[in-house]
Amino acid sequence: MDKILARYNELIALIEKYNQEYYVNNISAISDYEYDQLYKELVKLEETTPEIIITTSPTRFVGDVDNSLVGSDKKIEHQIRMYSLENSYSRDDIIEFIDKVKKVVNATVKKIEFVIEPKIDGAAVSIRYKGGVLVEAATRGDGVIGEDILDNIKSLGVLPVTIEDKGEVIIRGEAYMPISTFNKLNIEREAEGETLFANPRNAAAGSLKLLDSSKVASRGLKLFLYSLDLGRRFDNHFDDLKYLKDLGFPVNENCFKFSETDDIMDAIFEIEKIRDELDDTLNNKLDYELDGAVVKVNDYAIRDELGHTSKYPRFAISYKYKSESVRTKLLSVTFQVGRTGAITPVAELVSVQLSGSVIARATLHNNDEIKRLNIRIGDTVIIEKGGEVIPKIISVDRDVLNIDGREIEIPTVCPVCGYALANDVSGVKGYCINRECPAIVQGGILHFASRDAMDIKGFGVKVVEQFLEHDLIKDISDIYKLDRKKILKLEGFQSQSVDNLLEAIEQSKTQPFHRVLYGLGIKHVGRTATKLIIKQFGDIDTIMKATEEDISAIYGIGVGSASTLVSFFKDEINIKIVDQLRSNGLKFEKEPDLLNKTALDRTFVITGKLSHEREYFKDLIESYGARVSSSVSKNTDYLLAGSDAGSKLKKALELDVKVIDENELNIILTGSR
Ligand SMILES: [Zn+2]
Repeated sequence: MDKILARYNELIALIEKYNQEYYVNNISAISDYEYDQLYKELVKLEETTPEIIITTSPTRFVGDVDNSLVGSDKKIEHQIRMYSLENSYSRDDIIEFIDKVKKVVNATVKKIEFVIEPKIDGAAVSIRYKGGVLVEAATRGDGVIGEDILDNIKSLGVLPVTIEDKGEVIIRGEAYMPISTFNKLNIEREAEGETLFANPRNAAAGSLKLLDSSKVASRGLKLFLYSLDLGRRFDNHFDDLKYLKDLGFPVNENCFKFSETDDIMDAIFEIEKIRDELDDTLNNKLDYELDGAVVKVNDYAIRDELGHTSKYPRFAISYKYKSESVRTKLLSVTFQVGRTGAITPVAELVSVQLSGSVIARATLHNNDEIKRLNIRIGDTVIIEKGGEVIPKIISVDRDVLNIDGREIEIPTVCPVCGYALANDVSGVKGYCINRECPAIVQGGILHFASRDAMDIKGFGVKVVEQFLEHDLIKDISDIYKLDRKKILKLEGFQSQSVDNLLEAIEQSKTQPFHRVLYGLGIKHVGRTATKLIIKQFGDIDTIMKATEEDISAIYGIGVGSASTLVSFFKDEINIKIVDQLRSNGLKFEKEPDLLNKTALDRTFVITGKLSHEREYFKDLIESYGARVSSSVSKNTDYLLAGSDAGSKLKKALELDVKVIDENELNIILTGSR
């Protein structure tokens, strides 16, 4: 029992430490997978020995599915009203604001300090701690009454489980979806035929209100907290922000404090620059949408004197940056058929320059979006692109005369094969359900050959189109039966290019099982899910025999993925394709653990430019049973460094981590084989 208790406490300490590092300091000391393993072990311990459970266990803060009564019927009245801010757009607006503040406040106060902070484009939240424990979380709602999102906020794991301050505190902030997460989520949703989110803000707001807390956790939302509204510790906002950070809350670092108008304006533009320019330390752009800056009076006494209007506080104002937008004309709308059969409307535009790239198309997401915009052919539309997000149509300019004005016809049959379309569950998108639909067949083959799956170089759209047209392939299994002579007869193929293509196809047979399984393109089964499934079942025969129950019992696999996986392998045609791929020598079982004493249980970090993509080396290292982590720490054994290695190399040298090149990596991995 003592042993169990010791492990229990150790697990809690580890998980809290990693949560803190990841969510507060933005460091991933271990992989998601390793983190999940620790977490799972903790859950198991609590199940088998419930008497040891402590109330502050991280399990009580993550994915509490039973308490999923979140949503519209659980309202929370805010103890302190949540105001929104007045917007401003020019230097004059800011000067006017500062003058007003000075006028109201006692003239003897010479210098009034202002704090300038980034305005994150997400969803406002209010959280309350009592006795050092998180007890309440709510959306802004109408400012007076919000929705209870406590379970969902807990499931994110972004807030400290307990804090040292044992008083009652109410803290406000912004929940946001990182841009990288947003783009990935939409790519996945597109691949799986689900409705796309219009922007990270909608995605964040929508995710916060999901009924299933475990789903919220997978959305990867983060938080920035920006005001302490109850339980203030200092007489000013700036010091309280630092206090919040010390308590372990995520607080944005780009906050400034100034008195002079010029300095305030500079700070506002400084924050805008941070948004638009490369950040040297991060080596990439900010991973969140930032739509402006907020200017707030620092001193609480002055704030109280200023008070509120019926809508806004008089002590703060937001300055909105102009997001890049441009006007262009809608020429037509095409309806694309994805590999899952989902039909997505795409706007074809008169091409324009926007944020440094030429835009000729923008997604219209789904049929509802067409209705919402009330858009017609020939309309002048305003398209916008913020940060790294895909361009979108935000509105129609009704002041410009549209002489065309044809309505956009929503197809009832597949634009490619003519099959009658089925509706998806939400009814906002059509689906082609003809499995022989050329678009679906082609999409499936391209997916199989794509970089994340079998990575067959040179097997792109043009080639696949030609092969399909000349009946060289019908499905993915035919890729491995291609006839050199027949390809040479096609237009544009020379002997050398055919050799290269066939060599790339031959090479792909060595790809690990998880890539093969992912390449099959099973709906709702993404890359992570594939790896988890293989980890559990090992080989294809076991996977094909697994029941929905077996599969959904895997931590991290949803019921939806389990059911599509089972029905996929019930299908005779799919079984036949798998058999043929297998007889062509593709891998259908987990790489054996080689028990390499040198590499096993070692942790690698990869940096710099290497001869292959990072993913290649990650797969290679993991196939030997070693781990790959994303950041260098004391626990790193080797840093695999290519050319142009930067901060990771520096850190490795500081920490005395052994730095190796590709040759040395091979020696380490294969050395004691
Ligand atoms: Zn079709």
